Amino acid sequence: MISDIPTYDDFADQGTAFLNLAWDTVLDLLLDYEDAEAEEGIIDDEQPEEYWKAAIKPLATAVALVHQGAEFHLKARIALISPYLLITSKASEWPRKSDKQDTSFSSFYIADAQNLIKIHDTVAEPRLSDTIKQLYEKLRLARNKIFHTVDKRLRFSEKEIIQAILEISDELISPQKWTLIRRSYLESIPRSFVWTVHPVGSVLSREMMVVLDLLGAADAKKFFGFNKRQRKYICPNCVSEHRELNIDENPLTAQLSPNKPNSTNLFCFVCRENIPVIRKRCKNIDCKGNVIHEGRDFECLTCFIDHEADEIR
Ligand SMILES: [Zn+2]
Ligand SMILES: [Zn+2]
Repeated sequence: MISDIPTYDDFADQGTAFLNLAWDTVLDLLLDYEDAEAEEGIIDDEQPEEYWKAAIKPLATAVALVHQGAEFHLKARIALISPYLLITSKASEWPRKSDKQDTSFSSFYIADAQNLIKIHDTVAEPRLSDTIKQLYEKLRLARNKIFHTVDKRLRFSEKEIIQAILEISDELISPQKWTLIRRSYLESIPRSFVWTVHPVGSVLSREMMVVLDLLGAADAKKFFGFNKRQRKYICPNCVSEHRELNIDENPLTAQLSPNKPNSTNLFCFVCRENIPVIRKRCKNIDCKGNVIHEGRDFECLTCFIDHEADEIR
């Protein structure tokens, strides 16, 4: 018999780790730049060319990781039907004595990256979209160049890498789940086991704000269900995670859902929670907000001032 047969979860967990490591690389670059802009007083786009030139190698490594992530998620989806579909060699090429003694799955010749889409679309439903097929092929060729040659023309922008991770997450894992996947990854990294306060929520909202700036309106809608043209409100859940770390900033990550004048619900694209609200003018005369958190402090989710219960009823 074949032993150590991998499951969907084995492949998917590994694939998700690769995608997160690629995301780490790109977000470190984006957030470092944002910090430098604030601390060093970089005006507009004074130095970005040198900055991104120095980032070519880390970005190339991130591309290879994204490809690896997609490859493992394809293997996961195939394994869901049957992991044996991944053994593509003829029986005559199987390990010696595999019919006489238990042989580990890893001793068999496993399908090449370039054949995974064909295997997937032959056995699994639905077939993959043209978008993901083209993206996978582009990443696969780039990865081969990164590992086997030095191609100076090979360049991926930080935006392309982010879009690729989100595209893979949406189609090969589940639509609009990246923030949740990212949160559980951040909760599992080594530092979360040694720091008493591990700022998962605030790291996540900071990452998502910078990604939102980078992406166009269509991508923000597709990957996060966030409408860049719609009014933004403070998310009280994300605020409380910020306060644990004494961060004063109020993350504007929530929007009315549905977007109606009398809507009494907000949805935050970072914590993926619905927040009940009361539609009443804020008492702060300088604030035009009329969306009040239906919670203990009745905070205005525009200026974050508290209200007494009798002020909003
Ligand atoms: Zn939130
Ligand atoms: Zn207000």
